[in-house]
Amino acid sequence: MVLAELGGSIARALKRMSDSTVVDEAAFAACLNEISRALLQADVRFASVKDLQANVRTTVNLASLPAGANKRHVITQAVVAELCRMLDPGTPPPFSPTKSKGTTTRPSVVMLVGLQGSGKTTTCAKYAAHHRRKGFSPALVCADTFRAGAFDQLKQNAAKANIPFYGSYAETDPVKVAVDGVETFLRSEQRHDLIIVDTSGRHRQEAALLEEMRQVAEAVRPDLVILVMDASIGQAAFDQARAFKESVPVGAVIVTKMDGHAKGGGALSAVAATKAPVIFIGTGEHVGEFEPFDPKPFVSRLLGMGDLSGLVNKIKDAMPDQQQNTNPEEMVQKLMTGGAFTLRMMYDMFQNLREMGPLGQLFSMLPGGFGGELMAKGREKEGQAKIKRYMTIMDSMTAAELDSTDPKMMNESRIVRIARGSGRQVKDVKEMLEEHKRMAKMMKKMPKMMPNLNNNRRCD
Ligand code: GDP
Repeated sequence: MVLAELGGSIARALKRMSDSTVVDEAAFAACLNEISRALLQADVRFASVKDLQANVRTTVNLASLPAGANKRHVITQAVVAELCRMLDPGTPPPFSPTKSKGTTTRPSVVMLVGLQGSGKTTTCAKYAAHHRRKGFSPALVCADTFRAGAFDQLKQNAAKANIPFYGSYAETDPVKVAVDGVETFLRSEQRHDLIIVDTSGRHRQEAALLEEMRQVAEAVRPDLVILVMDASIGQAAFDQARAFKESVPVGAVIVTKMDGHAKGGGALSAVAATKAPVIFIGTGEHVGEFEPFDPKPFVSRLLGMGDLSGLVNKIKDAMPDQQQNTNPEEMVQKLMTGGAFTLRMMYDMFQNLREMGPLGQLFSMLPGGFGGELMAKGREKEGQAKIKRYMTIMDSMTAAELDSTDPKMMNESRIVRIARGSGRQVKDVKEMLEEHKRMAKMMKKMPKMMPNLNNNRRCD
């Protein structure tokens, strides 16, 4: 995705600044300019970029830093914090569905709005499936009576994900369909606790669409209205998001097609227009290609620093506890408190990843070379082969070698023995050790770069 390019550009700008012999005003300004250029190229609004520049400058006053202060670190941290702030309106979504199946509490009603083609119908099914995995009992209502075929599409998506749905071929009043659908599920014996309403995305005129949204919202009284935006929308995103916000109380945003060639920066500026947080991103057409969005880990991934907490959640989501080799949460805790990243930890991490199936989107969560190089979709196979090769090599290592925290342990004679034992060449073993070193280095930096990385996860 093009956002990966943005991340690469920002990371390179920071690295160039870090590598310069002295970090003075000139190096700082050059770094900020380079970052701003990259953001503008990714369609981020000029006003947001200007804010970012001004805020970093306010936070970092090189002249007033005490002698011996790590200027590189101070600047990097300020940039990371500002990138997070750009993606975070500072307010959590006004509502998160709560499990109430079997109780008398009113089920949560969530309404999705957005322009046709944004991925709204697909996102309804993804949102439903995500919550079902979390133990909810969701149901879908198709209140798009404008587009012929909308109901069939929702039906198909719902059936594939095995989620009950409601719609009508005959009724042309979207308000009536929405109300009937919600009522049907409120009365249903299946005691659904999450009712998701899909709405129209097109009309003869935009004003008519917005008026329809207002009426549907007034009739079904949703607990949460989610605006769905296509990542490729570019600079138009801000005005479009604001128009929706003026008609319905948009409380959260989902950005779709983050896997594509979209620049992404535009859609992310919907945050500024609606003051509502992005809660999920769509990363593919498949129902499972959907991720909770949290600015800090996202920025961390974008800059190639990995997203350990996201990775842990993915592993936990995908595998029942008893199948896990090591408790990934424990491992992250250990690392966050300064523990060494051993070869065995890398092995177990790879093992967990391999057992989880499609690996593509997970690579970007790994720090080091995997995160940076293999973030692009379509390079999963390459990554998988690499992981397999590394694991074969590690299979020829002794327990002491795997658990060692001494970087000097892996001497030439051990490397030659491991290469022979695993049927690989010495250079392959060295490559694996280099990768481990790179990952370990990133892991070590993470607590400093991403303070509170594990806090404030908002959306599951
Ligand atoms: P709607 O008109 O807003 O309801 O949009 P649809 O749900 O019909 O989606 C429009 C197209 O976008 C379909 O071909 C979807 O498969 C595709 N789509 C939706 N979300 C994503 C996503 O996150 N990634 C990709 N690559 N395609 C998506």
